[in-house]
Amino acid sequence: MRLFTHADVATFDPANPTARAILESQGKILAVGSVRELRDLASDTVRVEEIDCRGATIIPGLVDAHLHAGMYADTLADIDLRRVRSEHEAIEAVRAHARTLPEGVWVTGGRWDFNTWDRPEQPDRTLLDEAFPDRPVALWTIDYHTLWCNGAALRAAGIHDDTPSPRGGEIVRDEHGRPTGILREDAATLVERIIPVLPLEVRVDRLRKAQDSWLAEGLTGLHDIDGQATRETWEALRAAGEQRLRVVKYLRLEEFDWAKRTGWRTGRGDDWYVQGGLKLFSDGALGSHTSYMSSPFPHAAGEEPNHGIQIATEDVLRGQIAEALDRGISLAIHAIGDQANHHVLSALAANTERTVRAERSFGRVFRHRIEHAQFIQPADVARFAELGVVASMQPRHCISDLHLLDRLRPDESLAAYAWGDLAAAGATVAFGSDGPVEPANPFAAIYAAMTRADISGDPATTFQPERRISAYAAIEAHSAGAAYAAGLETRTGRISAGMAADFLVLDHDPLRGDGYDGMTGEAASEQALFEHAARVRDTRPLMTVVGGQVAHSR
Ligand SMILES: [Zn+2]
Ligand SMILES: [Zn+2]
Repeated sequence: MRLFTHADVATFDPANPTARAILESQGKILAVGSVRELRDLASDTVRVEEIDCRGATIIPGLVDAHLHAGMYADTLADIDLRRVRSEHEAIEAVRAHARTLPEGVWVTGGRWDFNTWDRPEQPDRTLLDEAFPDRPVALWTIDYHTLWCNGAALRAAGIHDDTPSPRGGEIVRDEHGRPTGILREDAATLVERIIPVLPLEVRVDRLRKAQDSWLAEGLTGLHDIDGQATRETWEALRAAGEQRLRVVKYLRLEEFDWAKRTGWRTGRGDDWYVQGGLKLFSDGALGSHTSYMSSPFPHAAGEEPNHGIQIATEDVLRGQIAEALDRGISLAIHAIGDQANHHVLSALAANTERTVRAERSFGRVFRHRIEHAQFIQPADVARFAELGVVASMQPRHCISDLHLLDRLRPDESLAAYAWGDLAAAGATVAFGSDGPVEPANPFAAIYAAMTRADISGDPATTFQPERRISAYAAIEAHSAGAAYAAGLETRTGRISAGMAADFLVLDHDPLRGDGYDGMTGEAASEQALFEHAARVRDTRPLMTVVGGQVAHSR
């Protein structure tokens, strides 16, 4: 039993919003109240460890509703090209990195972003082939929707001049029909699936390190959107007794057959590890110009208008959703462009009755979610609430996309990164990072939702200030919202009796600032908002408590 005392507890439980102490037993919250009340309650028990929080603030543990855990862990060791400013610099960095790897192994990693290069143009394989004639190289864009490969990687994947582009993807070719090395969306999986998986002990080691960093940043749980390899890694970490935050594990379409064979189902598991749903893709991403939009991307005269890539049509999605539901599996569907979101909502709507039937026959709730939901047609905003579809959003995408929004100027009538509009319409919003596309730090995401301005805190960069939300709403989306997205809202996400004892002890109160009201988001001035939001952004928890255990402290 542990008793946390002398804290300003923001419970996020509307029935009992504030308290001074929390009593924990066997990983769960036994009671929330005043210090005296809880000391009385605990007095019969012989062993109570009292932890004096000395006036610190406590909020619910934050949960990342969309994190690629294995990929994120890999980025701690892989080449990182985010800071290079040209193709040449990128090649030099890759060459230096390759020298640190064992002879002959694939060179992977990447996170390049041609939008930030001196000449903002997609690279090709020419210089890569000069640097690496025989060794396979495959480098992801920052959004992980485009792969830049050399000839050795293409050959290993069996991609030749006459290989057709797969449905939902593109093998980019030069004017002679020769693959340039750029593979978009589902074409990238042709190479991705043959990259040898690292040995399990290497993956476990990387995941353990990543877990430490997540706990230090204030995550008490995450929804892992990666595939099968990371599932094995989590299981190995768990078996070693080293899993220290709560995981909801999603699967990818490539693993659906495996899921069917093994009877894998949404909602199975225990307090630490729960099976989530199946992740599907309906389109690409904004930075790669592959998000599926009703209006075309800006294009030169004479160029074909590009509306992005529709990876799966509404018909295909409808069938995939039905098949998953019949197997007791809920859906998490990637949709960034407004037209993609429109079709996904319609495909889910067509499966409303099937969802109810599946819930009845499997005895579980199935929460369908749209991942990203970045651009939404005005008439579709209310459909999220009507259909009970969770908007799983990543506020940092908005502020990382500021330069893109400036250049691409998407249709202004669309609800863009509209977490506030969706919540006001009655939908549940769940926040996450989409790490490693963005850093995992949840406080930076809360900052982004509060300000919609660049990470350095320049108010002049704000995108649509009318869509800012309060600190309270942002924290709630990052805790209770994430819990709801996985059907776990009765177990985690708020500080109340019976819930898991997952919370953060902070030396700064995100809900109260000078001239800033964290409950309503009202600020006396832009300056007051940004001063407070910057402190929220820079928050490092004093303690991260998971299941009553102090999993991290500083
Ligand atoms: Zn995605
Ligand atoms: Zn993602």
